[in-house]
Amino acid sequence: MLIGVPKEIKNHEYRIGLTPAGARELVGHGHRVMVQRDGGKAIGLTNEMYQKAGAEIVDTAEEIFRRAEMIIKVKEPQPVEYAMLREGQLLYTYLHLAPDPDQTAGLVKSGCTAIAYETVTDRKGGLPLLAPMSEVAGRMSIQAGAHALEKAQGGSGVLLGGVPGVKPAEVMVIGGGVVGINAARMAMGMNAHVTILDRSLDRLKYLDELYGHQLTTIYSTHDAIEERLPDTDLVIGAVLIPGAAAPKLVSREQLKLMRPGSVLVDVAIDQGGCFETSKATTHQNPTYEVDGVIHYCVANMPGGVARTSTFALTNATLPFAVQLANKGAKKAMLDDEHLLNGLNVHAGKITYKAVADDLGYEY
Ligand code: NAD
Repeated sequence: MLIGVPKEIKNHEYRIGLTPAGARELVGHGHRVMVQRDGGKAIGLTNEMYQKAGAEIVDTAEEIFRRAEMIIKVKEPQPVEYAMLREGQLLYTYLHLAPDPDQTAGLVKSGCTAIAYETVTDRKGGLPLLAPMSEVAGRMSIQAGAHALEKAQGGSGVLLGGVPGVKPAEVMVIGGGVVGINAARMAMGMNAHVTILDRSLDRLKYLDELYGHQLTTIYSTHDAIEERLPDTDLVIGAVLIPGAAAPKLVSREQLKLMRPGSVLVDVAIDQGGCFETSKATTHQNPTYEVDGVIHYCVANMPGGVARTSTFALTNATLPFAVQLANKGAKKAMLDDEHLLNGLNVHAGKITYKAVADDLGYEY
């Protein structure tokens, strides 16, 4: 199969859909890979690396979209990109169609087959192509929070780990899923005192078995959160109710309970945020202050560490890409129901029920 990897064109997107190692794997399976010139340059993945892996470097996105049978990307196609997609072409990338009627109409019109990373499933009921980005965001949330606690950033001037003779910071992680466990691990690693809250007793049991007395696990209620706010330096919002907007777990009124310069990191901002005062920010301007409390609400945290995120993404997407290339899209999906769950658009039709229902398409 002829596979094309264009340079990402969304604002401040430095990730690329395939690493040189990924290209080498596909070439090793007998496929041809085209990568757009300088597609990975911003994160140190040079044209020479791709060439050494057996890929062909091409100058323009137009050439990739014209020639490739499968396009591997990171972000949803932008208008100039979906205008170039054609019938029968396979698109493998994040799509997030439900809130995006224009892109959806563009993909339907193109006649392409589009597999969305975010709806591919695994045997445990998880979302294996979304998980790596949650791991990145969870780990990064502590580094962002620690930075925001510094005095020069408007924070209270508390060091997460304390020092001998001075107590460490109190970190409260709300939501103990993929983001939450990764945040907790980083905070524990920096010697902070960490409390994690979840509504799933099974999840709390799992976390307790894993970390024992190092981690305090608490059943998540409004009372439990409110009770802890006065003594907490850093709160990480890491909840998810699949398919729904994030529940609001800290109100504006409750910010008064916190010490000035304490920090809220709302990782769930991409689902609307779990603090009443959250609004999406960017890597250029990541924080703002409300009632003395610093808020960090970057909606695409993994983009800030684009190099790590690119490797993490290819690790997860590559096995499916190999199946798609080896067997062709149809047989690969018929053989693997989890990959089939990723199919969102095919031959002018929406093939994912939630997207069809949300946007009023026939299913
Ligand atoms: P997940 O499903 O693995 O975990 C979510 C957890 O929240 C579950 O364990 C669930 O039981 C728990 N939960 C639900 N309601 C709760 C409540 N009221 N109190 C406490 N816990 C509650 O999800 P995840 O992969 O960890 O993702 C968490 C959020 O982070 C999602 O909104 C996801 O979209 C977001 N995210 C954001 C970025 C970013 O760049 N900002 C990146 C990756 C993920």
